[in-house]
Amino acid sequence: MTTKFDIRNLSFDELRNYCTSIKEKPFRAKQIFEWIYQEGAWSFDEMTNLSQELRDKLKENFNLSRLPIVQKQVSQDGTTKFLFDLEDHEKIETVLIPTATRTTVCVSSQAGCKFGCRFCASGIGGWKRNLTVAEILTEILHVKEEAKQHPNALSHIVFMGTGENLDSYENVMKAIRIINSKEGLNIGARRITISTVGIVPKIKQLATEKIQFELAISLHGYDNESRNALMPVNKKYPFDELMQACREYIKETKRQITFEYILIKDVTCSDKAAKSLRKAFKGMICKMNLIPYNPVSEFEHKTPSREEMFAFRDRLEEFGIHATIRTPRGRDVGAACGQLRHAHKN
Ligand code: SF4
Repeated sequence: MTTKFDIRNLSFDELRNYCTSIKEKPFRAKQIFEWIYQEGAWSFDEMTNLSQELRDKLKENFNLSRLPIVQKQVSQDGTTKFLFDLEDHEKIETVLIPTATRTTVCVSSQAGCKFGCRFCASGIGGWKRNLTVAEILTEILHVKEEAKQHPNALSHIVFMGTGENLDSYENVMKAIRIINSKEGLNIGARRITISTVGIVPKIKQLATEKIQFELAISLHGYDNESRNALMPVNKKYPFDELMQACREYIKETKRQITFEYILIKDVTCSDKAAKSLRKAFKGMICKMNLIPYNPVSEFEHKTPSREEMFAFRDRLEEFGIHATIRTPRGRDVGAACGQLRHAHKN
């Protein structure tokens, strides 16, 4: 256990300022960033192009260690789920998702979640705290290392693990700037997806950010009533207000939004639902990701049959809504959001 400040909390500019403050050349910041984010160093001793004096100073002042892994599960499809133990012993989940063409990491941004969506294991135990920038980046660094055992290097980041990203706006955005920067992980903005449950004022703020990341809205309901039943956040930011904010976001950024939509038998994939979505998306450039419900024992929902899911997808397509059914990944290791973390607490 260490109480030292984690160096991965520092932006590139902050690290450069630190180097200047200890009378080192500013380019040392670039070297240190490269060691951490490109070479995957887990200790200052590995930074062989720095003087011994500087390495000692960094060691004295900062932490750069790994996160202890409580559990690592590898699914038959290669999906690898990590449960990490943080300094205060909060647990977080991170998932590596390999496909034929890419390797993606699904990142958590909070320990627990205060939004309590009624299909999600992450919300069950409530919210504990926001993750620090360093914790978010360390999740990714672990997966980047693990990806070396897969055909494709880590190329895509999705903020879709535990937590509501826009509820920890500053930390998530600071981490994203480091992920995206040339000196940092150098991952293109288009390969970074931030999902949100629909915090309207923060969606407006996101529209003013200069980075061209992808935005995904966890919609999961087809009108105000259906969304209220599944997502308590809808009481604060009702369906129509959220859709209006999305329209403004698209207008402002000229970028498409992806809507995540859970398929629950007899709840979200009726003909009424499809018709309501047609109305909600009228004239909007967007796509829908349909996610088959992954059973969580605390909820009574059921997954629709394959036929029901495809019939719903076809109905949406008929209405001009581009929709794809997400292939479930890592089901044998409980890769749905929050399942591993939750199981570990019981
Ligand atoms: S779906 Fe997202 S916002 Fe909702 S409870 Fe789960 S982690 Fe929280």
